[in-house]
Amino acid sequence: MAEIKFELNEYKRELSDDEILNDIKNVAETLGVDYIPISTYKKHGKFSQTAIQHHFGTWKNALSIVGLRNERNSKELKLISDEEYYRDLQRVANLINCDTVSYDAYKEYGKFSAEHIFHRFGKWNTALQKAGLKGTGFSKDKITEQQCFDEIERIWILLGRQPTATDIIKRGISNYSIDTFKRSFGGWRKALEAFVEYINTTDNSDLQTSKDYNDSENIEEHKLDIQAFEKEKTYNKKNKSNVIGFQHKTSRNINARLRFKVLQRDNFKCCACGASPAKDPSVELHVDHIIPWSKGGETIIENLQTLCSKCNLGKSDVL
Ligand SMILES: [Zn+2]
Repeated sequence: MAEIKFELNEYKRELSDDEILNDIKNVAETLGVDYIPISTYKKHGKFSQTAIQHHFGTWKNALSIVGLRNERNSKELKLISDEEYYRDLQRVANLINCDTVSYDAYKEYGKFSAEHIFHRFGKWNTALQKAGLKGTGFSKDKITEQQCFDEIERIWILLGRQPTATDIIKRGISNYSIDTFKRSFGGWRKALEAFVEYINTTDNSDLQTSKDYNDSENIEEHKLDIQAFEKEKTYNKKNKSNVIGFQHKTSRNINARLRFKVLQRDNFKCCACGASPAKDPSVELHVDHIIPWSKGGETIIENLQTLCSKCNLGKSDVL
C-alpha cells in the first residue's frame, strides 16, 4: 500500500523573529521615531504584514517586543483624518468580503485602533455608515446596542432618574459593566446620548402623536380614513354617532420608545397610587391606554398613562 504523506507547504526560507525585529528597529531609527504605523513600515521595511502576523500575532505585539511605543499618542491620532478611517474600514470589508466590519474583525485586520474609531465617531455603526458600509455593531457574542438601550431603560426606570456612571459601577444594578457601555458607545455619557437619541427617534410607522393628524403629509391618509368612515356611516344610517368600524391610526402595540416617554412624563410613578420602583423595587410599572384600544383609543402619548401592575389589574376589572 502506498504511503500517503500529508505535508504543509514549506516556507521558502525560515525567517527568524530577530530578523524581523531588527528590521523594525532599523526603520524606527532611520525615521527617528518611537512609533511606526504598519503603513509606514510597509513603505520602508523589508517584510510583509503577513510575515509579521505569522511571527508576532499583531503589529502591536511586534512593536512592544522591539521596545517601541505600540500606540499612537493623542497628537498622532488627531492627524488621522476621518477619510483615512473610512478607507481602512472599506479595505477591511473588502478583505473579509463583507458589506460590514465587526469591531472584532477590525481589531484583527484594521490598521488603526478600533477603540479610537469609537472615540472619533461615538458609535461603531456611525463610523461604518459614514464609510458607506452596513451597520453591524458587534458579533453575536457581544452585547448589542439594542441590549444596551434596553438595559439603560431598565435602570433608568428603576432609579426613576437618569443613571450616572457611579450607579453602574458602585450600585451594582446593571447587568453589564461600565466597560461594556464604554466599548459600545465610547463612554457612559455617549451611551446616554445615544439612548436619548434612540428614544427620540420618531418612527412614523409605530410612533404617532395626535399632532400628526394635522401634518400636511398625513392629510391624504386622513382623507382616505374619512372616506372609509363615511362609507361606514352609510351602513349605520340609523345611528350617526355609531363609530363601529373606526379605523385605528396607530397600532395597539406600544413600542419601547413611546413607553419610555410616557414613563418619563409620569416621573416613573404610577398615576393612580404613586408607587415607584425607585422607592419599592418590587413595583412593576405598566404603560396603559386611557381610552382602551378596543374602544377606539389610539396609541398616542396623550392616551397613555403609567400604572403599577396592581392598579392596572384593578382598572381592567372595572372596564
Ligand atoms: Zn398604582
